[in-house]
Amino acid sequence: MSETSFTPRVFSGIQPSGNLHLGNYLGALKRFVDWQAKDVETIYCMVDLHAITVWQDPADLKKSTRELCAGFIAAGIDPEDSILINQSQVPEHAQLAWVFNCVARMGWMQRMTQWKDKAGKNQQNASLGLFAYPALMAADILVYHATHVPVGEDQKQHLELTRDIAIKFNHDYGVNFFPETEPVIEGAATRVMSLRDGSKKMSKSDPSDASRINLTDDADAIAKKIRKAKTDPEALPSEVKGLEERPEARNLVNIYAALNEQTVEQVLADVGGRQFSEFKPMLADLAVSKLAPISTEMARLMQQQDEIDKILARGAERARAITAPILRQTYDIIGMVPPPAI
Ligand code: ATP
Ligand code: MG
Repeated sequence: MSETSFTPRVFSGIQPSGNLHLGNYLGALKRFVDWQAKDVETIYCMVDLHAITVWQDPADLKKSTRELCAGFIAAGIDPEDSILINQSQVPEHAQLAWVFNCVARMGWMQRMTQWKDKAGKNQQNASLGLFAYPALMAADILVYHATHVPVGEDQKQHLELTRDIAIKFNHDYGVNFFPETEPVIEGAATRVMSLRDGSKKMSKSDPSDASRINLTDDADAIAKKIRKAKTDPEALPSEVKGLEERPEARNLVNIYAALNEQTVEQVLADVGGRQFSEFKPMLADLAVSKLAPISTEMARLMQQQDEIDKILARGAERARAITAPILRQTYDIIGMVPPPAI
């Protein structure tokens, strides 16, 4: 089946697990805004059902969901243009996920690196939801027949699994119903690394706050975290090749390039030969100039909780106009007796 038989539609999500950070901004949010500017339908989601795969404090989860909504809008998502939703308010995501739990195989799930990383050594004590996470993610995407999913590099494997689920469903039922979705992993910062450890990605769930730049950090905090970021003693190279084997240096240059909308080559042509003592303040100024307007706008929007809740309610209504018919057709394909029309 070719994806060209489906109307292009973009879907992506972010977990409201607090600490929205620079990696989420460069790897996801900024890309979402780029897609919104194109002539294609865009649907963006606060995936709260994913967040609870690890325990969340209930009051924090509510706050983080609204804060994430504010973050989407502050970063440039227009809720009149894109459909902006909170996952649990669109029940067809969870309903289709159950169907996909019955399509996906245990072996597929066991191979997922996110499962292995997040469950760690204590898999027996991890939630069943954390294990099934990729089937819910496939449902999030396919319940819209989405064809393109902008994500950071860490989600590539889950997107491949989404395709496997679509292919197996279509094969098992002899239909051409779900598209083979394309991951879209683009830009200079598809994998922003921790500021403390160049081998680990920047994450909301990293216990060290110094490892990441949060979108809610003020100018002082941003400058301090960049000043303290792990680096090596060498000056910056003038060529990309000179960043090989230097993960921390590469990370800071990638961040600079992505924030300044330049290529890594262009950045190195300017800063090659400089010491980190010179480059870090340049990076801090750039980060503050790009992120401060977002955090100011987030704080302003957070004062208007009723407005945020209305935006989410409206988004859910628009989303369900797409998801309800697709779920109904899925149930019909797999042989469920249709409920009486209301
Ligand atoms: P958690 O640690 O709780 O999994 P997270 O920081 O990985 O949180 P998610 O909500 O899981 O954030 O991911 C949201 C989006 O941000 C995804 O598209 C993901 O690929 C992207 N993303 C997450 N971390 C990074 C990163 N360090 N660099 C680039 N993109 C990232
Ligand atoms: Mg993640």
